[in-house]
Amino acid sequence: MTTVAPPKHIAAILDKLTSKGFKAYIVGGSVRDAMLSRSSYDWDIATSATPADVVRLFEKTVLTGEKFGTVTVVLDECTVEVTTFRTDGEYNDARHPQSVEFVTDINKDLGRRDFTINAIAMSIDGEIVDPFGGINDINEKIIRCVGDPEKRFSEDALRMFRAFRFSAQLGFKIEKDTLSAIKAGAANAANISAERIQAELGKTLMSKKPEIVGEIIKSGLLNRFLQGAYKNSVELCRMSKLPDETALRWGVLCAVLFDEKCIESAWDFLRELHVESKIIKTINTAMLVKDFPTDRIGQKRMLVKYGASAARVAAAINDVKTGDSMASLLTIYRIMASGECISLDTLAVTGKDLIELGLSPGPELGKELYKLLDYVIVNPDSNNREVLLKFINNK
Ligand code: ATP
Ligand code: MG
Repeated sequence: MTTVAPPKHIAAILDKLTSKGFKAYIVGGSVRDAMLSRSSYDWDIATSATPADVVRLFEKTVLTGEKFGTVTVVLDECTVEVTTFRTDGEYNDARHPQSVEFVTDINKDLGRRDFTINAIAMSIDGEIVDPFGGINDINEKIIRCVGDPEKRFSEDALRMFRAFRFSAQLGFKIEKDTLSAIKAGAANAANISAERIQAELGKTLMSKKPEIVGEIIKSGLLNRFLQGAYKNSVELCRMSKLPDETALRWGVLCAVLFDEKCIESAWDFLRELHVESKIIKTINTAMLVKDFPTDRIGQKRMLVKYGASAARVAAAINDVKTGDSMASLLTIYRIMASGECISLDTLAVTGKDLIELGLSPGPELGKELYKLLDYVIVNPDSNNREVLLKFINNK
């Protein structure tokens, strides 16, 4: 098993805490990712020091979640979260513990964590604390709850989404009892905020295995956003071939759900999930493209009519429907890279030219410009001022 060497600034924080007699470990996702040789962006530190101790020991700190024992240590290069070992009290809203209790035993802290692979701690001198067999589960590629899965999911329903999300990101299987507990407890997802669900779904969609979203739907976790029954869709499996861009992947999900009559509109579904407005607009426009054009002129006209972002989403949707890898998307990329004129910005004549020819400013002038643009789309070599002015005069 790979040993984990944290970056210098993290090692310095661990050193400082241990030199003052406190226990300190890197924990959670950073240990898991380092063991899997995945790059980790946030290094979480757990310590026996109380938040007050941490504030005293470090020059610059912010009390980010004092109630939950978290202090953010502010360094020149970044910020690091340092959290006091704790156990969680009762949960009353299927999401947040009512209270937490600070403890001095790392094993107890690891016991409150969601999955065995996220419940491994490592000290600066290489001591590993792994009370739930997390290393073994990493080796076996298994997502397994710490403790009784039904209880853990009833405490915090978001963990069910996290199980699928880790399974998609890491390519791990969800262990049998953990999976059954998700199916049994799916109704509890009603208590999770739409933003949190969107964040987990988004990470799942952007992973190597976006088709896991299909498993999430089948487990019932999204029932409050969907209607009717979802059938296993081959299109979701094809999504992994697409670039991991938010609009493309959410767009494909919407198209699949729409075709399966699980949603009435992409707009409402994405709004309910609080997806960013810009992405919603792009996808909504892309959904207007019912038949993706097969010829280059048609594709260029589509780019003019719907804009590049929506055209790319429409292309991605077409690709998963036809199973043609990235053919349509590549076609759109090629047209855009060709330098051919597909917008008024690059048309060789402007509104000013037309006014000089005697046209009055207003909607008619706009229509004339678009007629010229269409002429250039059909005749790409004609994007030349003289040629276009002649064309107008000859009309
Ligand atoms: P990533 O940062 O890639 O999303 P992560 O495992 O680091 O993955 P975080 O949300 O950053 O996830 O949380 C850090 C750690 O805190 C987790 O590894 C886990 O030990 C614990 N944790 C986070 N969320 C929960 C939760 N809902 N229930 C129990 N433990 C949790
Ligand atoms: Mg993390």
